[in-house]
Amino acid sequence: MLIRFKALDSLVENESYRHIAPEFPPITEIFGENVFTLDKARKYLHDEAYKGLVQSIRGSRKLDRTISGQVAVGLRAWAQSKGVTHYTHWFQPLTGTTAEKHDSFFTLKSDGTAIEEFDGGALIQQEPDASSFPNGGIRATFEARGYTAWDPTSPAFIYEAANGRTLCIPTIFVSYTGESLDYKAPLLKAIDAINKAAVDVANLFDKNITRIAPTLGWEQEYFVIDEGLANARPDLIQCGRTVFGASPAKGQQLEDHYFGSIPQRVYAFMREFEYESYKLGIPLRTRHNEVAPAQFEAAPIFEEVNIAVDHNILLMDVMNRVARRHKLKVLLHEKPFAGINGSGKHNNWSLATDTGINLLSPGKTPKTNLLFLTFFINTIKAVHDYADILRASIASAGNDHRLGANEAPPAIISVFVGQHLREVLNDIEQRVGEDFDEQDEAILKLDLHRSIPELLLDNTDRNRTSPFAFTGNKFEFRAVGSSANCANAMVSLNTIVAETLKRFKSEVDTLIEEGTKKEIAVMQVLQKYVVESKDVIFEGDGYSQEWEQEAERRGLPNLKTTPLALDALSTEKAVKLFSENGVYTQREVHARHEIELENFLKKVQIEGRVMGDLALNHVIPEAIRYQQIVADNVCKLKAVGLPETAYASQVELLGRLSVHIETAYQKIHEMVEARKVANNIEDVRERAIMYDREVKARYFDEIRYHVDKLEQLVDDEIWSLPKYREMLLLR
Ligand code: ADP
Ligand code: MG
Repeated sequence: MLIRFKALDSLVENESYRHIAPEFPPITEIFGENVFTLDKARKYLHDEAYKGLVQSIRGSRKLDRTISGQVAVGLRAWAQSKGVTHYTHWFQPLTGTTAEKHDSFFTLKSDGTAIEEFDGGALIQQEPDASSFPNGGIRATFEARGYTAWDPTSPAFIYEAANGRTLCIPTIFVSYTGESLDYKAPLLKAIDAINKAAVDVANLFDKNITRIAPTLGWEQEYFVIDEGLANARPDLIQCGRTVFGASPAKGQQLEDHYFGSIPQRVYAFMREFEYESYKLGIPLRTRHNEVAPAQFEAAPIFEEVNIAVDHNILLMDVMNRVARRHKLKVLLHEKPFAGINGSGKHNNWSLATDTGINLLSPGKTPKTNLLFLTFFINTIKAVHDYADILRASIASAGNDHRLGANEAPPAIISVFVGQHLREVLNDIEQRVGEDFDEQDEAILKLDLHRSIPELLLDNTDRNRTSPFAFTGNKFEFRAVGSSANCANAMVSLNTIVAETLKRFKSEVDTLIEEGTKKEIAVMQVLQKYVVESKDVIFEGDGYSQEWEQEAERRGLPNLKTTPLALDALSTEKAVKLFSENGVYTQREVHARHEIELENFLKKVQIEGRVMGDLALNHVIPEAIRYQQIVADNVCKLKAVGLPETAYASQVELLGRLSVHIETAYQKIHEMVEARKVANNIEDVRERAIMYDREVKARYFDEIRYHVDKLEQLVDDEIWSLPKYREMLLLR
């Protein structure tokens, strides 16, 4: 029996795993149970060690050997009390997944006695073999060694899998020469950069603010399908997306999925991964159906960006693992199915002060409005000036299916601010030429006071097509791909805002030194920024043809493919931005560029191969088998003496089958040749462009067209790949 039918059979027969939604204890009882939070540290650490840990979390002190030794002892005691036997440094290499190498607490003393130990050294630093991780040429010129180093700002946690419990210590991953090889190290640096820049600016208004942390609330979209069906699709297994598949008769048109109830089986899965997440301290808040059939979303309460990034990566892992227990498969790819919506991961971003203020929340009094306006306008200015950097930060093979296609959001980076704030910005702008004076200041304060509270009304009027939207008290970066590590986008966003705030501060300072009153100096620079960044604001339909044309007139970049979008990383501008803010050195920027290009290239390469395999080993042989049956039928009808009209349709069908078989076969062959040509190109950027243009753009859609036609012609009994309607609509 075809694997497809086996999977369909077991879907119908095996009811047992369908409705299990076990009782879980209340969230408040289990939340953070497996996390070494500060209150647990308080219990397990001596005063000195506890104080040292707290100080190092706040960034005011580096942990020394004695303290880390004590922390290690407490950490092990806590972990062992929970049945943990192994520990690992948990890090985020540039492969896009997480990495870990488990070591046992168990060790032998010189006389052979078995003991369990975990010392400060093992906590702080380890030396995994770096050679198997992407490094963009950094490692090649030096040593293969890489180091993982403890990041105390993200708490250690216990990961439960296959009945084993492992103590995971979040770490950064750097080369022997100190260059970062992961997502976390640059993120921590970008957080530092924006903290300093934002505190400097905020102190213009409020001296009590001493620390500012970027916050992130992500919204994870994903698909869930039956595991048996997924396993019968080699493309899903190898590429995370279907490279073939005809659209089902019932697709997204009805949109009955969006507000529909969550299917039982998926609901049971959600409850269980939520339960696991709560134990890991991931504050999940919402779950719902998304637009496409079989598409869902999970979102937590926002957290400081470093923690939020870790939690997102962890959640993706937990989801994959829990899904298996439910015989489901989670698809985190940006575009698992053609013809229906893809998945993104909105990154809601804001800045929070240690005094409890959200800097992007429009306050009630004029004075705090000025604080708000300053950060609001500086962010817009940053996005305007560094749209290319932001675009590069979300570029990936998967995301090209969304950003380059007619789907949310477009590849053009623009900012949506909403009608009321637009008016506020217009007000400010219209004073070009006339300097602000004391009187204006008063009027302005009144104006702002009048218009900002109405903002709440605007919240519901959200423009879903904008890649970067202000949504009431935060910006929402919507162009991030569903499978991405948010750190990539967050490094760029926080760095460009840090840079902009630095420039802003120095311009304001200059004016103040020249004798301008502080508030007026602030307003003058803000006014200048509003004028300068006007072009990036767009409130209309981001998918429309008109916007593409308008954006071109405005000179906004519109890069639809990854290899070109990544060019932003090879500019002087990028090197200056990242190095001056201490986020990446020149070498690191270049290495990132190369790694991203290679990631892209490999994905397209694999997809090309998988297309070839599937077409040659599944689709074409099955189509030929069917063709044979039809041809037999024609011969026999003819032999019994029926007139040609009696089998005209069969003959026509044979012709159509031949055309599609023939063309698919030819194009596969040509694609293989194109890949060979591309593979011989030395320069990685050129190679990536070749893959994009000469392999992907030239052949993928065309091959798919013929294969999908065959799917619609060939007898269902013969077709071995699960169909869209089966994967998307059955559960
Ligand atoms: P929606 O966009 O679905 O209507 P909300 O506006 O309530 O929902 O929030 C969406 C996401 O924004 C949530 O994941 C939430 O955690 C996040 N969020 C809310 N406030 C902030 C903030 N100040 N900083 C970062 N993220 C935030
Ligand atoms: Mg949203």
